[in-house]
Amino acid sequence: MTNRQIFLSHLAQTSDAPLMLEMVSADGIYMSDVNGKKYIDLISGIGVSNVGHRHPRVISAIKKQVDKHLHVMVYGEFVQSPQVQLAKALTNTLPKDLDSVYLVNSGSEAIEGAMKLAKRYTGRSNIMACKESYHGSSHGALSLTGSESFKQNYRPLLPGIAHIEFGKIEDLNLISEETAAFIVETVQGEAGVRHADESYWKAVRKRCSETGTLLILDEIQCGFGRTGKLWAFEHYHIQPDVLVSAKGMGGGMPIGCFISSKEVMNVFTHNPVLGHISTFGGHPVSAAASKATLETILEDGLLKGVEQKEQLFHQLLKHAKIKEIRSKGLMMAVEFESYEVLKSIIDRAIELGVVTDWFLFNDKSMRIAPPLTITEDEIKVACESILQAIESV
Ligand code: PMP
Repeated sequence: MTNRQIFLSHLAQTSDAPLMLEMVSADGIYMSDVNGKKYIDLISGIGVSNVGHRHPRVISAIKKQVDKHLHVMVYGEFVQSPQVQLAKALTNTLPKDLDSVYLVNSGSEAIEGAMKLAKRYTGRSNIMACKESYHGSSHGALSLTGSESFKQNYRPLLPGIAHIEFGKIEDLNLISEETAAFIVETVQGEAGVRHADESYWKAVRKRCSETGTLLILDEIQCGFGRTGKLWAFEHYHIQPDVLVSAKGMGGGMPIGCFISSKEVMNVFTHNPVLGHISTFGGHPVSAAASKATLETILEDGLLKGVEQKEQLFHQLLKHAKIKEIRSKGLMMAVEFESYEVLKSIIDRAIELGVVTDWFLFNDKSMRIAPPLTITEDEIKVACESILQAIESV
């Protein structure tokens, strides 16, 4: 049997139409398939490879850690250098109230932990989320998701969750003294890159503070440099009570976290003791990779070029078939007339060696989120292929 046959026969499928590219290596912005064909990864493996594939600093940190130890103990008991060094490095980038990091393995898991934290800290059970939000596929995270079609066949889900419109100030009045948390993506990803202005975020912060509701920002997709700031909330001059990260955080390794003040996080230690536990949370190899990723973004100046690269995409991607381009840094959505048009363009672009995608809740917008390391020349090559793909459909 070929790998393709085994993939279809023995690996659980998530759709009827997987991309089925068979990559065997990846470096920087490039991936190579089993036939030696090279592709530009214009989506960073869906928001993961912000520092590019196999960044040398990340690889070196992984190798060093592998030579020392792998798993030695469940999360939270032993003092493991990669975990504590990562926690220190993360909190150094954040306002002083965000000083306690809970390390987990994925985005969904980080959201689950953050939801439990808010319920336990506030003693409330209701949670507010946004329409067209995506927070993960586990039951709790799915309950937050703002898309009925994703949820309808998996009920019963968590009770007490309501949805308001992202970016609409009037809706914030639905957050009340009974709301434990408002969980919201700082930039909505799967809705097809939607962002709100500073006045909205100021109103969000005010409403959460006056009702004693924890503001939980999901920066799983928009954090770790994606928008040109290390954390997307920095654009809006507010700060969350809980910050959630994953995806790009590991530089290609699985890891996630939620971060709050020590006072809030401490509720997990009692009543009951071990209120939230994880076997593999903050795996030492992932934690070492994550610290190297963070250092790469900050020390290699990767944030500086983001805005200029964003502008270059806007300048180059001009075509009558493009209806709109929405972006926040290198998190971009290029909208076409329909799914059918977009799907043909995506397929043709792959033939031309450029991998893009659409969004869960917006299937007529092309996802563009390349590694932040992409050069201006590489952007020109990628955009030429996209324009050629558009012309050909
Ligand atoms: N939140 C957001 C904003 C995401 O984009 C994702 C993943 N697409 C998740 C949560 C879930 O992360 P994971 O797939 O690692 O569980």
